[in-house]
Amino acid sequence: MTKIESLLFGGVNFPEDEEYQRFQFRLLYALLLMGIFFSGLFILADRLQVNHLSGLHVRNNIAYFATCIVLTAALYGHKERFLVIAILTETASLLIYLSALILVPDDPMRILWYFINLPAVYILLGQIAGVCVTLISFACIFAANRYISAPYSDNALTTVVLTFTYSSIFFFAYSKRFVSFFKRMTEANRQLRELAATDPLTGLMNARAYYATCEQLISGALRTGAPFAVLFIDLDHFKRVNDTYGHEAGDTVLRDTAACLLRNTRLSDALGRIGGEEFSMFLPNTDLQGALTLAEKLRLDIESLMPTTGETQLKITASIGVAPNLPHHHAIEDIQRDADQAMYHAKQEGRNRVTCFA
Ligand code: GH3
Ligand code: MG
Ligand code: MG
Repeated sequence: MTKIESLLFGGVNFPEDEEYQRFQFRLLYALLLMGIFFSGLFILADRLQVNHLSGLHVRNNIAYFATCIVLTAALYGHKERFLVIAILTETASLLIYLSALILVPDDPMRILWYFINLPAVYILLGQIAGVCVTLISFACIFAANRYISAPYSDNALTTVVLTFTYSSIFFFAYSKRFVSFFKRMTEANRQLRELAATDPLTGLMNARAYYATCEQLISGALRTGAPFAVLFIDLDHFKRVNDTYGHEAGDTVLRDTAACLLRNTRLSDALGRIGGEEFSMFLPNTDLQGALTLAEKLRLDIESLMPTTGETQLKITASIGVAPNLPHHHAIEDIQRDADQAMYHAKQEGRNRVTCFA
């Protein structure tokens, strides 16, 4: 959101999947501002004697002008008030059109206000409201026609009903299609985002999504000063599994390992597959001792996992590098590098072990 947008709409934020709601919110603003502009113009034109209106209609315009100002102020920065303010705006608009219909008999075109109102109702309040406002408009026009000094002819009224019904059906179909299209697009976008963040083999976060999550967790931890740690888990001699039992068997091992790691993850932790047979776990609110305890448990669990491929049960092991947060860790790369180095030591010392970054 730009600074101007933030200033115009009171800093109201709509997430990506609420784009339609953002459009509705801004349209309501535009309608209220137009209401202020038009009623202000009529009041001014009457005062300057450019366009003379009856005293009652001027007072109604002043009331409408004030209502639009109050509603605009109430909407500013409050998206949760959208529905109530949209209903009140529509009610006030129908009343001012009725006032014009009865009190400005020498303007035969005033009936057009009902027409321009219709698309906004379908967009802001939906199809049921659109149908209701269509019927209410007919009721107002027919009822008022009995009391106005120069009533519309039957012919004119028939044209109004036919054209108004035509517009209403058109906007009904269009808004229904538009909303359903928008819902499907939002859902497709959500699925795409999920796919882009997920490793298809294990269902864990992929490297990009994992590092992005870690960045958020680290900035939270740095604010509160809470400890955190990273585990780097690398399967030992995994290439041999592929070479001996085939790629399918290797995939089974990766899936089983991922499930095993996931079982040991708290809701607040982050777990990702960051390379072929490499996993990383970010542990918020965890000190070195806690991280070492979990790493040792993971090592034992992986050792006893024994994934099956065909008739064979495979014994697999992992080397785990542990890195607690240190003053020089400002980003995930910093701490991940240390965990990587610790894992490298575990490999050098004979694999199937947990090593801490010294
Ligand atoms: P070390 O103990 O030193 O870690 O040896 P390693 O064999 O585990 O490590 P290396 O990096 O030599 O081999 C990793 C292997 O992982 C090579 C690659 O073919 C395999 N691999 C990477 N991604 C996948 C995958 O998605 N599925 C399968 N089946 N294998 C994969
Ligand atoms: Mg590796
Ligand atoms: Mg390996």
